[in-house]
Amino acid sequence: MFSKILIANRGEIALRVVRACREMGIASVAVHSTADSDAMHVRMADESVCIGPPPGTQSYLLAPAIISACEITGAEAIHPGYGFLSENASFAQVVEDHDLIFIGPSAEHIRMMGDKITAKETMAALGVPCVPGSDGEVQTLADAERVGDQIGYPVIVKATAGGGGRGMKLARSAAEMATAFQSARSEAKSAFGNDAVYLEKYLTTPRHIEVQVFGDGRGNAVHLGERDCSLQRRHQKVLEEAPSPALDAMTRTKIGQICADAVARINYSGAGTIEFLYENGEFYFIEMNTRLQVEHPVTEAVYGVDLVREQIRIAAGLPLSVLQENLVPQGHAIEVRINAEKLPRFSPCPGTISAYHAPGGLGVRMDSALYDGYSIPPYYDSLIAKLIVHGRDRPEALARLSRALGELIVDGIDTTVPLFPALLEEPDIRSGDYSIHWLEQWLAETFED
Ligand code: ADP
Repeated sequence: MFSKILIANRGEIALRVVRACREMGIASVAVHSTADSDAMHVRMADESVCIGPPPGTQSYLLAPAIISACEITGAEAIHPGYGFLSENASFAQVVEDHDLIFIGPSAEHIRMMGDKITAKETMAALGVPCVPGSDGEVQTLADAERVGDQIGYPVIVKATAGGGGRGMKLARSAAEMATAFQSARSEAKSAFGNDAVYLEKYLTTPRHIEVQVFGDGRGNAVHLGERDCSLQRRHQKVLEEAPSPALDAMTRTKIGQICADAVARINYSGAGTIEFLYENGEFYFIEMNTRLQVEHPVTEAVYGVDLVREQIRIAAGLPLSVLQENLVPQGHAIEVRINAEKLPRFSPCPGTISAYHAPGGLGVRMDSALYDGYSIPPYYDSLIAKLIVHGRDRPEALARLSRALGELIVDGIDTTVPLFPALLEEPDIRSGDYSIHWLEQWLAETFED
């Protein structure tokens, strides 16, 4: 096992990894920008290294600075968290080239899944059901129009290098194809430096259901069921739950096994998430994320497995610590994402926290790097906390979430907290009957001026 791990990230996820390291008896090294000298992940880690000025490109995304920090501190492995360098195949390669261990899959698998067209082709070949669409990249508008007519409208134009909901445009009819095609390409070019796009049938009222998998890199893999992340705004998740209110145990086992078999066959190593849209009882693969997800705690709650610990074990060459037959979900978990954003427009709202109190009690987990007097820097993602509750069943989890939200205090800045008590009043949320469009519609109705 490693004796020291460097965490190439910040905020709640860096703290999350520090916690796993401490429980495993591994020393942790935090890296930080000059804007994060007082950050909680820096305070909690055993050591810290300042790696540059505030902009991510000059610190958290700067591979040479991170590798140097490993050399200075003697860290043997790097945990990338999510975002930043977590799905950067060249970084994973550089880490390996320096005789360090990247806590994640191989550069080859990151590259394979980072290109959505290659990912889809690979998954289809492994027997994973995919959304009907173009056969790979579509290069000209004429081709896009031809494929659009074949698969039938509405059609979504997606960037093969896409992520974070960007580079995706909807064409409701043939008349909208020219605009959708061109704007998806130019957005993809400027956001990802790659304007390759492909087409998919646009599913009108699907749920977003994703399966957590773990591979040991030697042909063995397990799944840890699904998370339902259908509550989204601008293709970004807002609330996640496990298990999905839409699946029964048989369906879960079936799709879970398809996913575990697929990653086992490619000798995948570490944590991965296979994302699907689910409509009328059918699953349609959309992408695979080759890292830990923001919403991993709901899986941890219902399966009782520490996913970061599992990632570290696998990276150290140990076998999976769990057997598929022992992985049975217990109860129900819900996570809400708390952002430093002002409603109703979700405008970023950094600033100083004048008072902070985290909720507690049975079945409540607060993953956050906030503290009293903390100044949220304006340079990074606006996620400041994740509140996760676990109950014996969904109604108990809902009641617990409502109770925990009532205890939470985050003063001094605007946050998305007020959204959640209002959502919990909604009959559709209480019954679990919502698709990926539900939240946008609700926001439009609730906040219309
Ligand atoms: P990203 O990598 O940018 O997150 P994804 O491919 O994971 O992009 O898609 C993000 C979200 O966009 C999905 O959760 C869903 O809400 C929507 N979406 C993607 N593909 C489709 C599709 N074919 N039909 C309908 N909605 C889609």
